[in-house]
This record gives sequence, structure tokens and C-alpha cells, in this order.
Amino acid sequence: MRWMMSIGPLKDKVFDEARSLLSGQVKILELGAYAGYSSIYLAQTFGSDVQVTSIEVNPDYVRATRANLEHAGLTDRVTVIEGSSTEVIATLDDTFDLVFLDHWKDLYLGDLQLIEQRGLLRQGSVVVADNVGELFNAEPYLHYVRGCGRYTSENRSAPIEYTDMPDAVEISVYQGPT
Ligand code: MG
Repeated sequence: MRWMMSIGPLKDKVFDEARSLLSGQVKILELGAYAGYSSIYLAQTFGSDVQVTSIEVNPDYVRATRANLEHAGLTDRVTVIEGSSTEVIATLDDTFDLVFLDHWKDLYLGDLQLIEQRGLLRQGSVVVADNVGELFNAEPYLHYVRGCGRYTSENRSAPIEYTDMPDAVEISVYQGPT
């Protein structure tokens, strides 16, 4: 069912926007799988050329995500790693074209900085941060991506999934180290 596969129609649009900025084989890093809805959406939207690495700390969510990926026939496109985002990022040495931040909001900034330090971004990598609306106290993260000089960053308003509560998504394009 469509609603099972979606993180919400407006946020889907942000993924479509991110997709328009990328081409060819796309490697995606997702922080926070929850039940795998966004992994599934990304794997379907980007098609067979995509490889999604999704980090999820909650074992129940890891199980749910793996079951949903199995059901959707997408296990070959998505790898779910169980563990804390910060610890797992410290072990990665790939380059990612798209990073989707959707885990604990107070980890966004530190995890993005760690991703940069480890060289996991290339010039043109797209970083999408969900839930950066006023309700979520995302100011430190927004201040960083808008002010550090290494991103061009834009904000898209969208309600929280399946509600009318205001929220926003920040889409930031990495310009390389400065
Ligand atoms: Mg979210």
C-alpha cells in the first residue's frame, strides 16, 4: 500500500528533488531506518542502480526494516546495519552521494561533522535532514549547514508525517572541504 511505502508526500518530493541532483549509480547513507519506509522509498525511487546503507540502533526497528525490505523484494539494494550511528559512521570508508538524517535529532550535527571528517562526502553530495521544523530544536544543525561555508542549503516546509503539524526538511549540497 502506498502509505506503507512513504514518508509522506511532501517529503517524497524532497527525495525526488535530491534525485534530480544525482545521476548514475547512487550510494545512500540513511541514519535511522525506523521500519524501513524511507529505505524502501529511496530504493524504489532510485531504481536498481542504488545502494542504500541504513544504520538503525533499535533492534526491533532493524527487524521490522529487514522484514519490510524482504517483503518489498529490495534486500539487494538496502543493507541495514544495527548499531549506534556515531559508532558505525566511524567504521565507514565509502563515499555517499546522498545522506538522509532521520534519527535522533540531537545527533544530526555531530554525525554530519563526523561524516565530513571521515571523507564520506564528495563535492555535490546531497544531505537531506528530516524534521528540522521548530518543534524539533534543530537550530544548531541549521546554523551549521547554512553558515559553515561548505554547503548550499535550502529549507522545504512539510507537515510531520500524517499530521497537520508544521515541520521542515533541509536539503544541503556539499561543496567540498574549505
Ligand atoms: Mg523523520
